[in-house]
Amino acid sequence: MKFVCYKEFDDPLEPSYPGVLYKGKTLPLARLVSVAEAFHPRGASVPTDINQVLEQLPFYAAMVKELEKNKTIDLIWQEVGVTLTAPLPRPNRILAIGRNYAEHAAEMGNEAPSEPIVFQKASSSVIAHGQPIVLPPHAGRIDYEGELAVVLGAGGKNVPEAEAMSLVAGYTLINDVTARDEQKRAIARSLPWFLSKSYDTFGPLGPCIVSKDEIKDPHALTLTLSVNDEVKQQASTGDMLFSIPKLISYLSRHMALEAGDVIATGTPPGVGPLHAGDVVQVHIREIGTLSSPVIGEEDLPGSPED
Ligand code: MG
Repeated sequence: MKFVCYKEFDDPLEPSYPGVLYKGKTLPLARLVSVAEAFHPRGASVPTDINQVLEQLPFYAAMVKELEKNKTIDLIWQEVGVTLTAPLPRPNRILAIGRNYAEHAAEMGNEAPSEPIVFQKASSSVIAHGQPIVLPPHAGRIDYEGELAVVLGAGGKNVPEAEAMSLVAGYTLINDVTARDEQKRAIARSLPWFLSKSYDTFGPLGPCIVSKDEIKDPHALTLTLSVNDEVKQQASTGDMLFSIPKLISYLSRHMALEAGDVIATGTPPGVGPLHAGDVVQVHIREIGTLSSPVIGEEDLPGSPED
C-alpha cells in the first residue's frame, strides 16, 4: 500500500491529509476508513494526520486491501485539485547515515567506517515530490545524494537487531542534498555536517511511503538517481555497509527512537553537483520516483530580481 499526504487547496495554512495512492488517484484515507467501517465496524478512528496512520500502518493497509478486494475502492473519488505534499511533511527527526556504501566513502577519499556515522538533517529541509531544490547563492558546490529512507511506525530503546524491523512502518526515498564545499570546510574544522545538510529545500522526500509488507527485502532494491535523464547513481541497497536492522539497533542504543523518525540510509557512489535548470530524480521501482527541479534563489517568485 502506498500512503501519501495531500492538500486540497495548496494553501500553506491547510493541514496535510493522509491518503492512499490507488490506480493513479489519491484517495482520502478518512473516506476509505469511513466506508470500510460502514461495511465492517471495527471502531477504527478516522485518521487526520499521517503520524496516526504510521503507528497503525498494517491495520490501515489491511482495511484498504479489504475495500480493494470487494471492489468498493473503485467507487471512492479523489478530491478536486489534490496536491501531494511530502508523505511526512515534517518528520519527527531525520537521522542520516554518512558513508554507508564503501564505494561512496572511497570516492570522497574516506575509509569505510567501522561503525555508523550519524548526523541529523533538519526536518524543515523537507519538500515534496515536484517541488524545487533552491540553490543558495554563495554556498558553492551543491550535490545530490539519492537514498532509501526508512520510516519508523514504532519507537524503542536498546532494540536488539533481531527485533529492529518491527519498528519499521515502511519505506520512501530521500535526496540528501548537500552543500559539499561547506561540508568539506566543516569536516576540516571538526565541525558537524548539520548546516551543510539542512538548507531549506535540501530534503526532497517521497513521493509515498510504501508499507513494509510490500517490500520483502529492503536490501535487494535497485536505487537509481538521474540528472536530466542521465543515470548518475545506480546500486543495490544490499551494498550498504550497515544494514537497516543494524542501524536501528545502533541508533536506539543512543536515543529512544520514535514513530515518525526517518532514517536516511546513506548514498551509493556517483554523487555530483546540481545546477539551476537540472531535474534530479531518485527512483526505486517498488517505491516510485522522487523528482525535483533545481532552481537558483533568484528564480524564486518575489525575489528582488523577479
Ligand atoms: Mg547522505
